[in-house]
Amino acid sequence: MVAEIICVGTEILLGNIVNTNAAYLSERLAGLGVSVFFETTVGDNPERLQETIELGLERSDILILSGGLGPTKDDLTKEIAAKACGQELVEDKKAKQKLLDYFAGREHKMTENNLKQAMVPEDCTVLYNENGTAPGMVINAQQNKKIILLPGPPSELIPMFHRQVEPILQSYQRGVLYSKVVKIDSVGESLVETKVLDLIDEQSNPTVAPYAKLGEVHLRVTAKADTKENGQELVMPMVDELKKRFPTEIFTIEEDVTLEQVIVEELVKKHYSIATAESCTGGLLAGRIINVAGASDVLNEGYITYSNEAKMKNLGVKEETLAAVGAVSREVAKEMAEGVCKVAHSNVGVGITGLAGPGGETKDKKPGLVYIGVCVNGDTTVNKYQLRGNRKKIREVAVSRALTMIRQKIM
Ligand code: ATP
Ligand code: MG
Repeated sequence: MVAEIICVGTEILLGNIVNTNAAYLSERLAGLGVSVFFETTVGDNPERLQETIELGLERSDILILSGGLGPTKDDLTKEIAAKACGQELVEDKKAKQKLLDYFAGREHKMTENNLKQAMVPEDCTVLYNENGTAPGMVINAQQNKKIILLPGPPSELIPMFHRQVEPILQSYQRGVLYSKVVKIDSVGESLVETKVLDLIDEQSNPTVAPYAKLGEVHLRVTAKADTKENGQELVMPMVDELKKRFPTEIFTIEEDVTLEQVIVEELVKKHYSIATAESCTGGLLAGRIINVAGASDVLNEGYITYSNEAKMKNLGVKEETLAAVGAVSREVAKEMAEGVCKVAHSNVGVGITGLAGPGGETKDKKPGLVYIGVCVNGDTTVNKYQLRGNRKKIREVAVSRALTMIRQKIM
């Protein structure tokens, strides 16, 4: 089954909004085992939109369109899609009632053009919108060809796709796809790949596919089967094999579990508190920990100690150390980690000091040089990293490395 994504909106072509819907849909469709060969963005122009739909119907089984379902004049996706299928628009009673109910509870009066949203092509299934007024629809375009229309705002498109469209797409597929994602945090992508090359090479069902994510490598294990249970039976032995090959590096096999979440859960379990002292990462580490619900149970304090002065004043880093080896050094990372443990009365203290660049380099300190110290109940480890990339990437990867060090030291 081949699907094609068509995003409608001049705003996207002008670069005023980022096309996150395309990325979301592509990722979900891949997860469902639906192939996507083309992805088009077209402006709010009737002729070009019609051309795009007609071309799509020639080469794909399912067209998924996002945007242009609203009440205004430039919203014309539904009208053009109906035209391309030779269908009239008819009023959908339930959609109309939902519109009336929606406006009954509001200050704004419903205008005539709002009613346009209750009109749907004659041969379609309506997807009622739980988060907005424009319904989506699955149009029976031609024999075995569907056009799926979704509203543009991601807050409407994502739940509609997930709850209503995914089950429909699954019903078109023979069998199910079952997958698990094995997340690894302390080995680079090429080394991971080398260690699983034989599994990738001999794969058929399940398949193993590596993806590099900021400081992490994810291995997606996917099996095709007739039922979910049979899919699971194919996938789990492979997951177990991967666990054997990466005994300490895998931090989760759950899709929506993050590294920081694993750490917060472990800290809670151990009744440990944590405090951070960041120089070049400027609060990004504390930010990632605070992203986890429940972080307040473990995070005591987070310092951004950017200047030497701040490192001395807040963390008790020694002036002599700074003078002797400089702020970006193993010794200072250690004093930061131990200092923050002390001032914040925490079990775990983290100190990050580095050169994010560009510029500021010396003979033996190049941008990307980062020292990270992690102190757990008085026992400190300091690692040195030479990271690559621009300032943003270096800061983000430094935080990932720090999280990995914390995990390894507390688990
Ligand atoms: P509305 O009823 O809000 O007009 P619509 O279905 O007509 O919804 P559009 O008018 O095309 O959709 O877009 C509305 C808003 O949705 C845009 O301003 C933008 O914020 C968001 N949006 C649209 N398309 C995309 C996209 N491809 N990726 C991310 N956001 C999008
Ligand atoms: Mg609109």
